[in-house]
Amino acid sequence: MFMIKKRRKKPSRPARMKKKPTSTSLRNSRTTSSFKSFFDSSVQGILIHHNFKPLYANKSFADLFGFSSAQDVLALPLIRPLIPDDLWPQMEIEYDEMIRGIKPPSIGRGRALRRDGQEFWISLARDIIDWNGQKAVMLSVYDISLQVDFEYNLLKSEQKLRSVLEILPYPIYIARKSDGHLLFVNRKSCLLFQRSAGQFLKMKAIDLYADPQDRLNLHKLFDTVSDIRDIEVRMKKAHGSVFIAEMAAILLDYNGAPAFLVALNDISQRKELENELFRQASTDSLTGINNRRHFQNLAEQEFRRARRFSRTLTAMMIDIDLFKPINDTFGHAAGDIIIKGVVKRALETLRQSDFIGRVGGEEFAVILPETTLSGAYDVAERLRKHIQEKSFVTSHIAISCTVSIGVAELANDDASIDDLIQRADAALYIAKKSGRNRVEISKKKES
Ligand code: GH3
Ligand code: MG
Ligand code: MG
Repeated sequence: MFMIKKRRKKPSRPARMKKKPTSTSLRNSRTTSSFKSFFDSSVQGILIHHNFKPLYANKSFADLFGFSSAQDVLALPLIRPLIPDDLWPQMEIEYDEMIRGIKPPSIGRGRALRRDGQEFWISLARDIIDWNGQKAVMLSVYDISLQVDFEYNLLKSEQKLRSVLEILPYPIYIARKSDGHLLFVNRKSCLLFQRSAGQFLKMKAIDLYADPQDRLNLHKLFDTVSDIRDIEVRMKKAHGSVFIAEMAAILLDYNGAPAFLVALNDISQRKELENELFRQASTDSLTGINNRRHFQNLAEQEFRRARRFSRTLTAMMIDIDLFKPINDTFGHAAGDIIIKGVVKRALETLRQSDFIGRVGGEEFAVILPETTLSGAYDVAERLRKHIQEKSFVTSHIAISCTVSIGVAELANDDASIDDLIQRADAALYIAKKSGRNRVEISKKKES
């Protein structure tokens, strides 16, 4: 008779004491046939044995192990042929421990042998039962070969992936999508971030970013795309120094869960070089302010912005008065000092948002965003006075000089920034004609 015995409770026992595993009893009762039919029809292979002598096996167990019937299993004197040799000693020890109540019921995975000697993977649950008055072990078994194969292949392909990533000349890491934990880093990443692989694996990807918000934004991008490339992002090394990385990333499955594979290229040096080249190409070597070409670009940008947002914009043209005689009298080097001095005083007078360019030998143009004509006039007057008030000191002499300034405000019918600058230039011409050291505003086409 088959019956599952209810486990006895022993409340008097101190909780700390190891509970002796209880056994399940299969005894004669009126429910025999229903349990037997339950086991008989179970899709799990079930085998009951005492000291490895089979006492009961169901059809599923027989099928699983390649026997034509449960009877064939029961015909075995011992189930020894179903256990791989290397596992046998351990199985014997565990059997003894279970019978003696030292080892509790267990569920695990293991290997087994079919009747034809072929090895396969099983999930195995072991429990102690009473079988007609004697203790026996009940095994519930099912075949997990396909699952183990799948895991093995996954592991193999991940190992392959890791060995490929390891030899690539770029820093690469893999971070779990769900929580950003770093799962893999190659040697180049360790070199770049100046961290050991061990340190990395305790970190999250967000810790690598100079601005954590960048990681959150990139993560969000993956809501709509499955890979990103050519993204420039600021990252930080172990000791906090920041570098610019060009990043490519794809979403893949790693360790059975979605993860980002991220490849980096440290482009800090390239960026520095680009910045230096840009600086050289865009600044005037004598004064350090924008050269004519860069000033023109900035001015065009500002023109478009003013148009888009219907903002006021003014321009100023500045020309040093009677500079030729200064040059002729004191020499070209002294003239250079004056040019630099005028620029310095201009920078002291202008706001941060204004920008100035050297557009000729001793001519400068200024764009003043968000500034009205009268505002720009005031700035020009202040600048004119600032230049006039103190002479410029060269190595051997102090030289006074003045400037003339033309000011114009962007008008509705200005088609380009050049129209505005030309009107400022025309005002400058009038200032010169009117005696120099003056500020003139463009009267024509005022908006
Ligand atoms: P005005 O008041 O009408 O502007 O008279 P000006 O003498 O300043 O006019 P002009 O344009 O004739 O003179 C500009 C001079 O600036 C001519 C040139 O020799 C000098 N110059 C141009 N570039 C440089 C430079 O880089 N350094 C020096 N020292 N002089 C320069
Ligand atoms: Mg001049
Ligand atoms: Mg000039």
